[in-house]
Amino acid sequence: MKHKTNMNSSKENMKNIQVVNDEDPICHMKTAQFLKDTAVYKNKTYGFCSPYCKEEFKKNPENYAQK
Ligand SMILES: [Zn+2]
Repeated sequence: MKHKTNMNSSKENMKNIQVVNDEDPICHMKTAQFLKDTAVYKNKTYGFCSPYCKEEFKKNPENYAQK
């Protein structure tokens, strides 16, 4: 099997992860483009642009979680 290196797409490695939010709830960046980290809350996977935003979410998930 040939290993193909794709240099121009940093989101490749996260593409198989389904998140429930279109936007990072902390900074409102698009998760489709900027997904770097995820957190599971009440059986839903939320995506974030950075570990920082994930930590903010985890401090007060009720505030940010979808209904
Ligand atoms: Zn963010």
